[in-house]
Amino acid sequence: MSKTLSLMEQEAVQVLEKLEQHGYLAFFVGGYVRDSLLGRPIHDIDLTTNALPEQVLHIFPHCIPTGLKHGTVTVMMEHHSFEVTTFRTESEYEQYRRPKKVEYVSRLEDDLRRRDFTMNAMAMNRHLELIDPFGGKKDIEDRLIRSVGNPAERFQEDALRLIRCVRFSANYGFDIEQRTEQALEQCSTLLKYIAMERVQAEWERMMAGPRPWVGLRHLLRHGFIRNLKEELPISPEMWEAVLHPGLEQWLRRLSGSQARWCAVLWTLNCDPMIASEALKILKYPNRFVEETAAVLHVLEQWKTWDGAHEDGIKPFIRWSVRYGREPVLHALSLLEQAPLVFQRKASDSFVQLLHTYGAKVQERLMAVPVQSAADLNVTGKDLITAGIRPGPRMGEILKTLLLQCALGDLPNEREVLLQAAGKWQEQGMQGGID
Ligand code: ATP
Ligand code: MG
Repeated sequence: MSKTLSLMEQEAVQVLEKLEQHGYLAFFVGGYVRDSLLGRPIHDIDLTTNALPEQVLHIFPHCIPTGLKHGTVTVMMEHHSFEVTTFRTESEYEQYRRPKKVEYVSRLEDDLRRRDFTMNAMAMNRHLELIDPFGGKKDIEDRLIRSVGNPAERFQEDALRLIRCVRFSANYGFDIEQRTEQALEQCSTLLKYIAMERVQAEWERMMAGPRPWVGLRHLLRHGFIRNLKEELPISPEMWEAVLHPGLEQWLRRLSGSQARWCAVLWTLNCDPMIASEALKILKYPNRFVEETAAVLHVLEQWKTWDGAHEDGIKPFIRWSVRYGREPVLHALSLLEQAPLVFQRKASDSFVQLLHTYGAKVQERLMAVPVQSAADLNVTGKDLITAGIRPGPRMGEILKTLLLQCALGDLPNEREVLLQAAGKWQEQGMQGGID
């Protein structure tokens, strides 16, 4: 094979050469070999060798003993660093995840055999000649994910492979070989041994990847959803909605995990509170959970909104004061990209409004002069000085001032705002935002 090597590849070749000069065998392995056969972008390069970790540490001046227990040393070259792992086998897996025993071996093939799928179980020497004892290249050509050896046994050794399998299928657009796929279902109960953080990492890569709907369908079809370590508050029956062809169409138009999660949760008919709970269980960061829930809250509003009686822009402003401008804009752009069946789920008036106002609403929302109480030309302190009693009622007054300014019903001027606040205190509130 002749190809121009990137700087990273050239440095990796230097590492291989140096190991060979010291009398050892050394190869490219794993994801790098797979992705270079596929012509996909390369992010990192893993190397494997029969040199023991101490020997690797001895040969290279700049090393980090990253995972000595598992035989991994990170070798730092001038521009890139490489994980160099000694040929090894794993055995006596505990809790369907961790191998208790790691043994160094002398043959490359034995190292490749412990790897999960044929496409991940190939190596290349420094001349880029392929070593492929399990038919990985053929499977890549046939676009198939196949376990190395007996799939059920391999999933029982390490149940994380179940979800890696699904993630590779979604992100690479590969089918799962029949026996491997049968074993997915058979072994799905083992997922309860896998930490939610690990599940999340794989799930998130699917959501951000090119075909999240493929991943979601696998998760449903093979019973993964109901066998997670922590139960999600969304029933398997609700999950059936991921099969809706409109969802695929919608997800294709959206990029980024968060917008896609919003679309999925909306399609599942998931209440915003339940959605937050589900994302928390999936270990999404708080900020992600809150932002997603806010968008879903705004989307919820569409279901009951009767646009016929209101000036088109007003509800948007009301929601942006209540939930923040970002979630309103997100919800709007999400629904703009939704297929008609999902837009209709909002309301017919929404569909009309969207078609008539569309871009204009966004423009108007961006031009609203006040977004939060901090933008008002009065503070809580000012109100107290002017005789408003502190407490929840004062909070309501501030919110109402904000809303009225945002709607353009009051100018954002100190004297006017103080006067209105004083009047509301006497008369009781009108026109609140809730
Ligand atoms: P990506 O980096 O895109 O996730 P990758 O194949 O490089 O893909 P890594 O997690 O970086 O995945 O693992 C490197 C290699 O280690 C894999 O190609 C595979 O050979 C092996 N491997 C990783 N995880 C497992 C596992 N759970 N069981 C068996 N082999 C594994
Ligand atoms: Mg990798």
